[in-house]
Amino acid sequence: MNKNIFELINRLNQSHSLSLEEYEDLISGYSKEAAEYAASLAVEQRKKVYGTDIYIRGLIEVSNICKNDCYYCGIRRSNKKCDRYRLTKEDILLSAAEGYTLGFRTFVMQGGEDAKFTDDFLVDVIKTLKTIYPDCAITLSLGERSKESYKALKNAGADRYLLRHETADKEHYERLHPSDMSFDTRMECLKNLKELGFQVGCGFMVGSPYQTVKTLAKDLKFIETFRPAMCGIGPYLTHKDTPFKDMPSGSLELTLYLLSIIRLIDPTLLLPATTALGTIHPKGREMGILAGANVVMPNLSPITVRKKYLLYDNKACIGDEAAESVNKLSESMKSIGYEVTVNRGDRKSN
Ligand code: SAM
Repeated sequence: MNKNIFELINRLNQSHSLSLEEYEDLISGYSKEAAEYAASLAVEQRKKVYGTDIYIRGLIEVSNICKNDCYYCGIRRSNKKCDRYRLTKEDILLSAAEGYTLGFRTFVMQGGEDAKFTDDFLVDVIKTLKTIYPDCAITLSLGERSKESYKALKNAGADRYLLRHETADKEHYERLHPSDMSFDTRMECLKNLKELGFQVGCGFMVGSPYQTVKTLAKDLKFIETFRPAMCGIGPYLTHKDTPFKDMPSGSLELTLYLLSIIRLIDPTLLLPATTALGTIHPKGREMGILAGANVVMPNLSPITVRKKYLLYDNKACIGDEAAESVNKLSESMKSIGYEVTVNRGDRKSN
């Protein structure tokens, strides 16, 4: 093993911080041995905070209608082949009811930036869910909104908000998005969410087009300094009906290595083994847990719409990714020494 990498990993494990240049060295020094070493320390750190508990979230994909045109995303507004849908309040409540029975105590409402999801509509859904399920956490992942809007959603009872920063490099951001989307707005939204008291999640795609060691190092530094409660990373996966259709997908190995590094940056992070990871490899979620992740988000959307929320080709949403298979998930986690728990799964401090 390259001695420097070994030392860098050890130092990150102790101080939870490196310089930008050191993060670059850490990424470009990837090797199987370095990844295994980082994973062993990441698992140790995670166990100190969370033991062997795995938190589950029921993912309800509320709409695939989106005003944005992100070049990488299958539900971008210009994709005319996307079969659009929007869940009603009743649909969302039915999904939550099913999820509650299955043992979910966090519901994640994720979707495109759909203008029909007004503050009034969302406040009503959140308040209703909170009245029926006071023991559950509500996570939103509905993109960029005004600070006033975020405030209304928070006051209605939403607990967490996931908004991936996508990349911490402005120029890179501009290559992934059309000019009507702005890096500064994205960052402003994240800051606003934090100020309002949400448990905030950021994140990025590993291997997104034009990503470099330098942009990835900035992502790591951003996570270190922004201190999110959650961080969603998964491989970029190609979608055939997007402008990036010829760009290769990201790698499983680098995603796992970065999961371990991010765990070392913050041992208390809620770190999901994402659907994209479960899509790129049938055992991707288990591998993610063994690299330092501690959250899994099975799909709780109505079966009829699951195949329509296609961010990338071949998205896993049935079988092991489905919330109905939570027993199978529990078994699979047990087989690698972990236990799926029935609770809100809030972030712990160490
Ligand atoms: N509209 C909300 C937002 O922008 O945060 C939530 C939905 S958005 C589709 C959720 C995430 O999916 C994005 O933040 C992006 O990182 C991820 N995503 C989109 N296209 C992807 C692709 N081709 N491969 C992997 N992840 C993708």
